[in-house]
Amino acid sequence: MSKSAAKKIQAIRGMNDLLPSESPRWQFFEAKVRQLMHRYGFDEIRTPIVEQTALFARSIGEVTDIVEKEMYTFDDRNGDSLTLRPEGTASCVRSAMEHGLLHNQTQRLWYQGPMFRHERPQKGRYRQFHQVGVETYGFDGPDIDAEVILLSARLWQELGLLEHVTLELNSLGSAEARAAYRDKLVAYFDQHHDVLDDDSKRRLTSNPLRILDSKNPAMAEMLNGAPQLMDHLDDESRTHFEQLKAMLDAAGINYVVNPRLVRGLDYYCRTVFEWTTTALGSQGTVCAGGRYDGLVEQLGGKPTPAVGFAMGIERLILLLETLELIPEEALGGCDVYLLPMDDNATIVALTLAEKLRSELPTLRLQLHCGGGSFKSRMKKADKSNAPIAVLLGEDELAEQAVTLKFLRDDREQLRVSQAELSATLQNLVPH
Ligand code: ATP
Ligand code: MG
Repeated sequence: MSKSAAKKIQAIRGMNDLLPSESPRWQFFEAKVRQLMHRYGFDEIRTPIVEQTALFARSIGEVTDIVEKEMYTFDDRNGDSLTLRPEGTASCVRSAMEHGLLHNQTQRLWYQGPMFRHERPQKGRYRQFHQVGVETYGFDGPDIDAEVILLSARLWQELGLLEHVTLELNSLGSAEARAAYRDKLVAYFDQHHDVLDDDSKRRLTSNPLRILDSKNPAMAEMLNGAPQLMDHLDDESRTHFEQLKAMLDAAGINYVVNPRLVRGLDYYCRTVFEWTTTALGSQGTVCAGGRYDGLVEQLGGKPTPAVGFAMGIERLILLLETLELIPEEALGGCDVYLLPMDDNATIVALTLAEKLRSELPTLRLQLHCGGGSFKSRMKKADKSNAPIAVLLGEDELAEQAVTLKFLRDDREQLRVSQAELSATLQNLVPH
């Protein structure tokens, strides 16, 4: 074998394996999300990971960071240009239109899954990352904006995160108001051309609102003096925004209006929001969204109001870990390790394990497999992290009993008949 053939193949930079030691945390988070969506009357949608490149170019906007430099785009064998989805909204709109879900009806949808962006990998920023998103269609009024924000707030509440995140809110107004504001903004930036960095100079003609997003300290003072979108809202958008704020106030949701919050993507209008935290360094946005009333039409459908958000699962799990908010019982492991002490007990152990699983459907029981010496069997029981080992040896077989050994507590072992075992475990194992 040549040297190069023997070289181990590794995962792609910025794309992570989710190891068995970590997956219980994700399952804990995902279970909360699923339950919450169910409670709010949102239905799940699953779309393919790959779409035609044009879908993203047309919806996200040609001059956004995503389309300009972050997409995984390739030609397939037919020569069609395809792209690994960098976000979920465009796919959701494409699918909903294609299947008539937007025809004379409203929708409240949610999705989750991997997204792909060619960014510089760092903590909280990866090339394959995962989002949970919500998209609603057919609702004009601010009540649905409030509803999706309240849904996200309840998730933070239930995860213990609410006091660690801040809701930032802004309104971008109607497309027309934005266009008029854009002209004023460009005129202002033209007056301060010498202060603009290269990125901003480039954006001046393509996407001047994005300049407001800049974190460059050399531009901070100039940006503070820039005309504010909030002062140029159309009347309807202003009323919409005031109503939304009143709804959030009534629901007891705290927020700060951030007039510089513009979001990176082209398709937003009116409400935009972000949930941010200071606990994760510069990757501080854990959830972001807003209203995108123009997108469906832009992609060839009928004008359809839409509101949604996406949250980054990696960042949220990092945050939960940082704040030690993942409960012990959500960290995997099993309740019981069922241990045949020698090979003669294997068949009885298998049958007993299945009987317990039928009788106690929530019990997490691992059956010892793979034989081994007595010592190595006990070691495996210990390593399973189960608090209880159920032992089946020669004596137990003869008596149709088992021995319960408590691996984590200083407690006398128990001999119980096999018939009574499930009742005993029911009392011993928390559920
Ligand atoms: P950022 O400003 O951090 O680049 P963004 O505006 O590009 O975020 P969105 O497209 O709004 O992000 O995606 C919503 C959420 O998805 C973000 O708030 C973040 O939590 C998460 N996210 C976005 N890009 C990444 C990434 N490369 N790795 C991990 N999470 C990400
Ligand atoms: Mg980004």
